[in-house]
Amino acid sequence: MIVMKFGGSSVANAERIRYVTGIVKPLLDQKPVLVLSAMGDTTDHLLEAADHALKGIVSIETIENLHKQTIKELGLDAQVLQEVDALLSELKSLLVGISLIKELTNRTKDYLVSFGERLSIRIAASYFRTAGIKAKALDAWDAGFRSDANYSQAEVLSEAWESIAKTLIPLVDSGVLPVVTGFIAKDSQGNITTLGRGGSDLTATLIGSACKAQEVQVWKDVDGILTADPRLVKTARPVEVVTYEEAAELAYFGAQVLHPRSMQPCIATGTTVRVKNSYNPAAPGTRIVSKLDGQTGPVRAITSKKNVTLVDIVSSRMLGQYGFLAGVFEAFSAHKISVDMVATSEVSISLTLDAAHDLGALKRDLEKIASVTIKEKKAIITIIGDVRRSSEILERAFGVCSTLGVQVQMISQGASKVNISFIVDDAEAPQVVQGLHRAFFEA
Ligand code: ASP
Ligand code: MG
Repeated sequence: MIVMKFGGSSVANAERIRYVTGIVKPLLDQKPVLVLSAMGDTTDHLLEAADHALKGIVSIETIENLHKQTIKELGLDAQVLQEVDALLSELKSLLVGISLIKELTNRTKDYLVSFGERLSIRIAASYFRTAGIKAKALDAWDAGFRSDANYSQAEVLSEAWESIAKTLIPLVDSGVLPVVTGFIAKDSQGNITTLGRGGSDLTATLIGSACKAQEVQVWKDVDGILTADPRLVKTARPVEVVTYEEAAELAYFGAQVLHPRSMQPCIATGTTVRVKNSYNPAAPGTRIVSKLDGQTGPVRAITSKKNVTLVDIVSSRMLGQYGFLAGVFEAFSAHKISVDMVATSEVSISLTLDAAHDLGALKRDLEKIASVTIKEKKAIITIIGDVRRSSEILERAFGVCSTLGVQVQMISQGASKVNISFIVDDAEAPQVVQGLHRAFFEA
């Protein structure tokens, strides 16, 4: 068995659904299970409809038009139209309810956004059948998905793994293509829950892990995970293989990969995830695995994050005084400002923040115990790779900076053991990323 997940943009309209059919058909002998997101921006449109309902306006026009137009363009039968109509009228009743009670709990919100995925799988499965595939649309709860009642961020229960396998394995073994809703589940009371935005990736990795699939394929619009942002580095290329930890780290640093949480089930089972490009299905994409096999370089990818503020805090108390770091972090906590990178010495601490904060009041508080310098327009450069080879990585990285005449202003090595980050001026970030890319990938 393989699991194939297609996100909202891959099933955004009739043309894209036809295109997905072309990708799935040649792989039917590998017994795929499909996981789909809601069509296009439907999840956002559902949330907007709820906002309008809270203000007394009930309308499902955008959502209704998209789905009915797609049914028409795909030439689907009356049965799917009936199913879609039933869902749309249930949705409308729900919005009327929201407009009357003028209240939207997380539980109601989960029920509401579930319509996106429930609509998309029915339309896609119906089209697959017209293309000669024995497809069956399954709401996640009919495929065994049970979760806790933590609405909007629900966790799938470990007991669910067995029922997921018991439902899906016999289906694929009998030649059926299950088409499962991503993102949603039901709690033990039968209420609909969601796994958090972007949760379809997690649905796919859960199915893959529960059924011991050969591979979970996440289909995107790019050739997998890239060595650098292609807008900065023209020669950026797909990374062949990364570990789960490296992929999670890349996701935190804004690379267009998977939701960090979606890696968790696979870490437990060692199931391989592959990021594939739907516009280039022949390309191998990026494999995400528990351990790197053969020969790989020390570095997997380079990322940068601009518009970061660097704060240097030097203790005004005596050397060796305790409580200094606690005092510093208390101040950040009191002002609800979250810190990204940290580096310390005996008497000083440097840290970085997103530029979005107003730091006046924080600075006044910190100045009670330290002298504070705030430096704006900095960039964090992050090298994701094998930190067991950190000396080699640092030597080459600093060689690049010194050749470029760039001053490194702070450095930290992540506890996750896969990233090395340092700070340079914003304006220097592009040439540093390009220089590092040349040194690590083009040498
Ligand atoms: N449709 C949901 C969202 O937009 C889930 C997903 O796409 O993964 O967040
Ligand atoms: Mg989506």
